[in-house]
Parts: sequence; structure tokens; C-alpha cells
Amino acid sequence: MLASYAVHVEESLGRRFPEPVHPYRNDFQRDRDRVIHSRAFRRLEAKTQVFSRRYSDHFRNRLTHSIEVAQITRTVAAALRLNVDLAEALALVHDLGHPPFGHAGEKTLDAAMRAHGLFFDHNLHALRIVEDFEQRYAAFRGLNLTFEVREGIIKHSRDYDAATHPELAEYLLNQRPPLEAQLIDLTDEIGYSTADLDDGYEAHLVTLDQIRHAIPVFDCFFREVEKIYPDAPRKLKFNEALKRVLDRMVGDLIANTEKRIEHAGIRCLSDVRAHKERLAAFSPEVEAERKGLKDFLYENVYYSPSLAEEKNDAERIVSQLFRFWVENPSRLPHQYEQKAGEESLPRVVCDYIAGMTDHFIIEQYDRYCSSEGYLQRS
Ligand code: MG
Repeated sequence: MLASYAVHVEESLGRRFPEPVHPYRNDFQRDRDRVIHSRAFRRLEAKTQVFSRRYSDHFRNRLTHSIEVAQITRTVAAALRLNVDLAEALALVHDLGHPPFGHAGEKTLDAAMRAHGLFFDHNLHALRIVEDFEQRYAAFRGLNLTFEVREGIIKHSRDYDAATHPELAEYLLNQRPPLEAQLIDLTDEIGYSTADLDDGYEAHLVTLDQIRHAIPVFDCFFREVEKIYPDAPRKLKFNEALKRVLDRMVGDLIANTEKRIEHAGIRCLSDVRAHKERLAAFSPEVEAERKGLKDFLYENVYYSPSLAEEKNDAERIVSQLFRFWVENPSRLPHQYEQKAGEESLPRVVCDYIAGMTDHFIIEQYDRYCSSEGYLQRS
């Protein structure tokens, strides 16, 4: 059933610590399940994607975003006859390393680390979570995931330079990742751009007219929907049009990736790895539409004045707490204080903060940094 260039689970490069075969789940299914049962995965529920809880309980958070990306990824992987189990595990794990407060939290944490000559990268952090921080098994630290899942965590969205990252040498940095991992960056983008448009519209940050005017592909589908359902409520027409935008991106990703695989004469996994560029891609036409949608979201949702105050709060909370613990390591929880003896203190503080949920970090801020109390104020 699998394409010859898919990752075949029997050929997995395996786990760091060999384990007995499971009677009814293969190794990639087990990895997917290990991610689902991890603490870091559960905490995604209380981490901001774009909109905080202050807006609405039915907007996306990092957990529901990850589940939506997994759904889209399964569809695309199955249509391309790739390994759906591996692709699903990679989709569910792809945002595991994100700190609280969405992009603002990530930027602030990185800036705080750079002041110490270090940096924060969410993919590398996700690898640390699954390799070290998760403690569920008596025989080893971490989740003991297969090579292919660890490789996908690192390589799904970007290439790391082998010279600057000697610690990642085992992940074949001079080769492309398998197609299952290549898909994630694109299915992630399909997932969040359509979802953020939906939530942005619901939050009244953008109007239907604005969307129709700025995004021709949406407008085209909206006209089609109006002909089929002239009497439907506006929000349902919006949903129908948005669904068609999503379907178009998914269909194009499948068809265009298939075409590129054929054109490049790819026959096996090593061909995928050795190819000069990634094979998973939208067609130029849909790529331009994707970019148009993304630009619109940046301008009207992500950088909307309505979200500015929250971003400022996020920046203040993350940077002040970071400074507080670097200056007062004795106020860290015992296990982190101990780790500071083995690793640099800023790295330990960064790991601690990156693991927090939005509400936990706000509590910490109120406890250590704020006299008036963030929670009371907002
Ligand atoms: Mg994502």
C-alpha cells in the first residue's frame, strides 16, 4: 500500500534504547501515542496560539491547532501513500516546544537568551522535551522515540547548518527529511492560516468585506457559495467559502507534490533524502494565494492593535521573570536550581519558562514580579 519512497516502519533506524516489539502497535503508532500521553502535550491546551482565553473559549489553542494539523496531515499523507502513522506523530509533536503566549513569548524568550550569548528555538526545545524532560519510563529518560520522529521534530520546518549545530550531527543535516516530515510545514500553514482567518473573523478583527476584497480566492468561493445557498446565514457562507479555500490548498499540495516526485524521478527514500530541495510544495499559483492570505493575516490579525496589549503583557511577563530567576536562582523550584549546577543558569531558566502554560506563568509573575497583580488588573 505504501509508496516506494515512503518511510517503511520495518526500516526505521530505531530507538536509542531498544525495546521489545509491541503486539498490536507498530513503532510509529507507539511514538504517536507517547506524544499524546506526554505532559508537554497536555500543557498545549493552555498555551496561546493567536488568541488568549480572554477572547473566547472556543478559539484555537496550541493543542486544538496540533489536532487540526494532524487531521490535515493524515489526509495528505494517505493520498500520497506516505506513512500516515509517522506523519500523524510528527504533526502532533510539531508545536510541543512552544513557550507560553504564542509568538510573542517565543520572541521574548529568544531575546532574553541572546543577551547571554544563547538563543531559544522551539524545535530544539521540543527535542529536549522528548529526549530528556519527559519522565515516564523507568528504563530511560525521555520518550525514547524512533529516529524518524526525532529527525522530523528537528527538520520539519527548516534546515539546520551542520557547522553551527554539531550536536545535531546524527540527524543527517546534509540530507532532506523524508516526505512525511516535509509535509508538516505546509499542513501547519494550511491549518493555522485558515483557522486564524476563522478566529479573526469571529473576534471581529476583520470583516467579511475586508476578507473578500483582499483575498481573491476566498471571494471567488464566496460567490459560488452565495449561488448555492443564497439564504444561508453569513457565518455559514463564510464557513463554506473557507472550507473550500482549505480544500483547495490540500488538493494542490497533494497534486503538486505528486508531480514533483514524478518529475524528479524519485523511487525510494534515499532519493527523497538526496534530492537537492524539498519535494513537498504548493504549485506556484496556490503558493501565491497562500502568501496573500498570510500577508493579510499579518497585517490585520497578528499585528492588529487589539492584540497589541496582550503582546506587551507577554513580553513584560516573560522578560521580567527571566531576569528575576537569573538574578535569584535560589527562588527556582529545587530540581531546576540543582540543574543550574550542571548547565548554564540562563538555559535552565529558559527551559523552565518555555514549559509553562499561560496561566502558570501569570501566577509566577504575580508572585515574584508584580505588586499590583496581573490577574486582578485584567
Ligand atoms: Mg504549528
